[in-house]
Amino acid sequence: MNRDVAKKQIEELRNEINTYNHEYYVEDRPSISDYDYDQKLKKLIELEQQFPDLITTNSPTQRVGGEPLDAFKKVEHAVPMLSLGNAFNEADLRDFDRRVREGLKEDQVTYVCELKIDGLAVSLSYEQGVFVRGATRGDGTIGEDITKNIKTIRSIPLTIDQKEAFEVRGEAFMPHKSFLALNKKKEENGEEPFANPRNAAAGSLRQLDPKIAASRNLDIFLYGVGKWEARTLSAHSESLEYLKQLGFKTNPEWKKCTNIEEVIDYVQEWVEKRPHLTYEIDGIVIKVDRLDHQKKLGFTAKSPRWATAYKFPAEEATTKLIDIELSV
Ligand code: NAD
Repeated sequence: MNRDVAKKQIEELRNEINTYNHEYYVEDRPSISDYDYDQKLKKLIELEQQFPDLITTNSPTQRVGGEPLDAFKKVEHAVPMLSLGNAFNEADLRDFDRRVREGLKEDQVTYVCELKIDGLAVSLSYEQGVFVRGATRGDGTIGEDITKNIKTIRSIPLTIDQKEAFEVRGEAFMPHKSFLALNKKKEENGEEPFANPRNAAAGSLRQLDPKIAASRNLDIFLYGVGKWEARTLSAHSESLEYLKQLGFKTNPEWKKCTNIEEVIDYVQEWVEKRPHLTYEIDGIVIKVDRLDHQKKLGFTAKSPRWATAYKFPAEEATTKLIDIELSV
């Protein structure tokens, strides 16, 4: 492809993706499927890789999420809340593993695989062992202060046995049962239903009246430590165990894998088991376990080099929601 044609395509894709990002992140009302969105983003990444001089800092490939809503107080994240690179098939997973091992100059690397919960990334802050603030990821640097709304999630501990300033990160989500009940009620009231549980969770947590969030039966899984000066842990798997010990709700399905074959088996296992979950997942997150390895690999502008998200193919989601609807 010649440069002028590529430039035109890049501009068109950026405009389209910026519109989709606004609908999804700001309005919580997407107009295309995640699968179609991911394909467009993938195409843009490929074109930018072919013509790197056309990459600009404001390209959607270089930015996380969307603008925070003005209705909420802004929160600056001490440690940026980033996005994840994507893998769509086995070859992409093997490619990720190769890049990691080359970057670390190691033959063997241990990974932690986790379910990719389809909700909204949030950060919870504790001071002197007391919950003081909840925030959305926003654009990765600036999020929205949703303390009152997030406090309505009952599984969040309001006090923890940890006196240093401590920040924990996770995914707030709407279980299928709550999602179907909410959309049924919306339809009965002649209102537009939410497109999916992710948008319903995001819409619920970004309400000005916390009573609305409280009525939506949201839940949360915590999966990582953000800012914590006195950090003593040396592996991501230890963080998951420590969070559980502190009383946070962690997802029990994570697994340590000692090579990429085990990761691929885990992914395959969840392609089959996914329909039986009571909440939505859109993939599997694969993270390098050792924190010194993570530090060595570092970050791109948008995502860590030590993690990737395998995304499930689109058609599965449709089948599953139909199955669930029938069984509720
Ligand atoms: P992402 O969803 O690909 O991955 C990053 C996010 O995964 C994190 O921020 C976190 O919220 C989440 N996550 C869930 N479980 C996790 C776990 N166990 N460990 C770590 N993180 C976990 O990236 P993104 O930037 O949040 O969103 C991009 C995706 O959103 C796109 O790939 C697309 O599927 C969707 N999207 C869709 C539209 C649309 O119009 N349909 C528009 C924009 C974005």
